[in-house]
Amino acid sequence: MANDCLFCRIVRKDIPAAIVAEDAHCIAFRDISAQAPVHVLVIPRAHISSLNDVVDHAVVAQMHALAAQVVKAEGIDQRGFRAVINTNEDGGQTVFHLHMHVLGGRRMSWPPG
Ligand code: AMP
Ligand code: ZN
Repeated sequence: MANDCLFCRIVRKDIPAAIVAEDAHCIAFRDISAQAPVHVLVIPRAHISSLNDVVDHAVVAQMHALAAQVVKAEGIDQRGFRAVINTNEDGGQTVFHLHMHVLGGRRMSWPPG
């Protein structure tokens, strides 16, 4: 738990977020700057700065498990969605607490920008 980390503060409920799902390992909340009709961030409760800093990769499966619940609850599982983890500068990461973007509700383009 990092005191100065924005997403740790959301985990602690020090600052509000629109939480859509949570379990023992992870929480999921709506991105404050949604890039699609559904745009949810899934994060581990534990502070991990980026995908490069994962030691026990079970955490990534735990994130996927909660994301799978979210896409069903949001009704985007069958039409489809995109799950992405931006990492460091070239990946476009701006918040250094590991998070998976789950985007859906519109057709995504490829390649990403
Ligand atoms: P990234 O650029 O991959 O690090 O993604 C960080 C995401 O966090 C961005 O899409 C932001 O819009 C989102 N974000 C930043 N602050 C908040 C917040 N307080 N609540 C919800 N989402 C946030
Ligand atoms: Zn953190």
